[in-house]
Amino acid sequence: MGRTEQYMQTSHVDRNHVDVVIIGGGMVGASLAIGLRNTLPESISIAVIEAVALSDDAPAGWQPSYDARSTALSEGTRRIFEALGVWQHIDQNAEPITDIHVSDRGHTGITRIKAEEHRVPALGYVVDNSWLGQILVSAVQERDGIDWLCPVSVKELTPEESGMIVALDTGKSLKAELVILADGGRSGLTRTLGIDIDESQYGQTAIVTNITPARHHQSVAYERFTDEGPMALLPRHNGDCALVWTMPEALAEERLQLVEDDFLAELQDRFGYRLGRFCKVGERFSYPLSLKQSREQVRTGLVVLGNAAHSLHPVAGQGFNLSLRDTQALADVLGAAGQQGQPLGGLDLLLSYVKGRQQDQHQTIGFSDKVVSLFSNDSLVLAGARNAGLLGMGLLFPVRDWFARQAMGLNR
Ligand SMILES: Cc1cc2nc3c(=O)[nH]c(=O)nc-3n(C[C@H](O)[C@H](O)[C@H](O)COP(=O)(O)OP(=O)(O)OC[C@H]3O[C@@H](n4cnc5c(N)ncnc54)[C@H](O)[C@@H]3O)c2cc1C
Repeated sequence: MGRTEQYMQTSHVDRNHVDVVIIGGGMVGASLAIGLRNTLPESISIAVIEAVALSDDAPAGWQPSYDARSTALSEGTRRIFEALGVWQHIDQNAEPITDIHVSDRGHTGITRIKAEEHRVPALGYVVDNSWLGQILVSAVQERDGIDWLCPVSVKELTPEESGMIVALDTGKSLKAELVILADGGRSGLTRTLGIDIDESQYGQTAIVTNITPARHHQSVAYERFTDEGPMALLPRHNGDCALVWTMPEALAEERLQLVEDDFLAELQDRFGYRLGRFCKVGERFSYPLSLKQSREQVRTGLVVLGNAAHSLHPVAGQGFNLSLRDTQALADVLGAAGQQGQPLGGLDLLLSYVKGRQQDQHQTIGFSDKVVSLFSNDSLVLAGARNAGLLGMGLLFPVRDWFARQAMGLNR
């Protein structure tokens, strides 16, 4: 389908005023649109502007949010998606995680976290991003009262006294009372608004691909720490595993070039034989890793959300889960204000949202960052500490319980 054709089919915005404009229809922006449509009165208009269309014939990795990755969704996320009315569809291709197996290469410490110990059916769920995209984008398109403008890119944002002017690459402009910036942080819109981003490089790259092991994964997720960096093998619904393998950038460059057999041999050497022999590897993609945090999450008429607000190391599987909790809180705050006829872009209102999210963001970002620093280092002292830590976690239920609740998105 051509660009203009798709825009015309999916958008019926022909006015130049929209109450709430969401920039980015990725995992976070699309989820927020569904949440807001549930909480805001019908009279308040919502538009989602997304630069890249989902397409069946697109090569894997083409859409930046719904690409070839898989995402581990926490139990907390499942509950939010259920409340949004989309979990029953996502669930059709979601693999439950019944056990998490945490180990440290070359050391004895191992801990296992089991769903049954925590009296939940699953500790989390693994879903292909492409499947999540199909469900979320369809839900946005099907909901009455959400305009889906795609493929349309936002070129510029200009604050005005009572809102924001949103300039599109179609040459058109929209006036919005409230803009939610969920563009993943890569389009540079935060920068043009003068919002500073704190960034610390991990000096690591994640290689992401699918692996077919000789043994079925039995719904177990493996987190393995090595002297090069952490790796996760997550169970997929088709019996394969989704690999997120982090390592120093230069090593990633080399491993991306290896022929299939050599790549599998190196992976096998790092991971071991818990899943038997690795038989096949899918297409490999790489993601440079850093911790990014926006210094401001709200201004009058503006909210910065999702990866644009905070982008985490993927190994603890917390980034999207955290953003979805932000999304739910924002939909609740705006919904309550909308029902009372209050302006949605007011600074005090938006600051109340940020205040309510501070503790969870601080705790989750801290947890994710500490796991990476403790487990991505080959110093003997740290190796001893994490070995003791894993053994301790294996022995002490309260510690393991805390770790499990954090992984499930329930520690708040
Ligand atoms: C390798 C890897 C594995 C991960 N695994 C997990 C996991 O297991 N669990 C977990 O919770 N998190 C995980 N994450 C984190 C998760 O992927 C992110 O939190 C999530 O993608 C953030 O979504 P987002 O919508 O904020 O941003 P994005 O996914 O980047 O989406 C932004 C969207 O905005 C659109 N856009 C950009 N600029 C414009 C513009 N100017 N105009 C219009 N549209 C625009 C883009 O096309 C895109 O669709 C992982 C991340 C990586 C890198």
